[in-house]
Amino acid sequence: MRAFGTTIFAEMSALAVRTGAVNLGQGFPDTDGPPEMLEAAAEALRTGHNQYPPGPGIPALRAAIAAHQQRFWDLAYDPDGEVIVTAGATEAVAAAILGLCEPGDEVVCFEPYYDSYAASIALAGAVRRPVTLRPSAGGSYAFDPDALRAAFGPRTRLVLLNSPHNPTGKVFTRDELTLIAELCQEHGVYAVTDEVYEHLAFTDAAAPHIPLATLPGMRARTLRISSAGKTFSCTGWKIGWASGPADLVAATLRVKQFLTFVNGAPLQPAVAVALGLPDSYYEGFRASLQERRDQLVAGLTDAGFGVLPSEGTYFVTTDITPLGGTDGMEFCRTLPERCGVVAVPTQVFYDDADAGRTLVRFAFCKREEVIADAVDRLRQS
Ligand code: PMP
Ligand code: GLN
Repeated sequence: MRAFGTTIFAEMSALAVRTGAVNLGQGFPDTDGPPEMLEAAAEALRTGHNQYPPGPGIPALRAAIAAHQQRFWDLAYDPDGEVIVTAGATEAVAAAILGLCEPGDEVVCFEPYYDSYAASIALAGAVRRPVTLRPSAGGSYAFDPDALRAAFGPRTRLVLLNSPHNPTGKVFTRDELTLIAELCQEHGVYAVTDEVYEHLAFTDAAAPHIPLATLPGMRARTLRISSAGKTFSCTGWKIGWASGPADLVAATLRVKQFLTFVNGAPLQPAVAVALGLPDSYYEGFRASLQERRDQLVAGLTDAGFGVLPSEGTYFVTTDITPLGGTDGMEFCRTLPERCGVVAVPTQVFYDDADAGRTLVRFAFCKREEVIADAVDRLRQS
């Protein structure tokens, strides 16, 4: 694992602390999640929910996860056998890859990819086959369908898909998902979907968020992963989950039991409460993030960045070329000293670093005044 070094999030957050810069690097909110959820966690701590919970997760949370997927995506999962609780989406992704791949198997993924994917694929002794997302002529990120077709071969075991997508903010369209689904079925491949931003596809995106599992033939071969961290602004809780056909879920649980065994006893009932919040909570959450995206996009545009469209997630990517920048890594390492703001270079999420050389990601999951302060600093630099 030596090649993996220190994650860019740890490096950039440490830089923010050291320099006192405004941290628009690592994606974590600076306000707390719904009060009902926080109160339920406090209550659980006080009332004896402090020992190992059941391996697959407490029944109330598994039932809430299943009900939430039925409510929003019309997907039916049996809470007993088709749903498990994990230590964040990160553990679910790792356990799924370790449980489903033999050494030498290939995993098709889209680059730039979330950094834990490459590490989890390496832990399994599997091989990643990245397909590159590039800004298209119209601005939004797209992939070459022939490159995707070419990535599939006799050793392909699974496709790892993240939509809405970190770091690009892309929401995959129905046409794109249809091609992915067709290739999975043609090659007998599983899909593992990372949908941690499922409630953050903005209303002006080219498409709403569509879970791959809802496409014809895909429920039977898809493991859907999500997490409470983003939707309920509690990224430090690390309560995630995986849902899918019983055999895929069992393979994931088999690994999970030896990674963490169980996790988050007093937080599990609280997340069950949060998942049951009315639709108005989810709508308000999305509207609030969309407003802050608009605020940051306007500020970055004003400061001279080439701003790429963000259709979802916590993030917007920018091209630093108009500012005379040629390398995002160097730009981000010196940005705190130049103007007191931290961002993340997107090139670290590509195998083909040149494809993301001049791209830099900013997070907008921050209070309005914090974004305003960051924008002022960037404008003056
Ligand atoms: N996948 C993606 C795409 C992410 O952006 C993140 C960061 N939150 C994760 C997974 C990790 O989620 P968790 O904190 O629930 O492990
Ligand atoms: N998902 C968050 C991001 O992309 C943070 C994850 C992390 O720090 N590992 O910024």
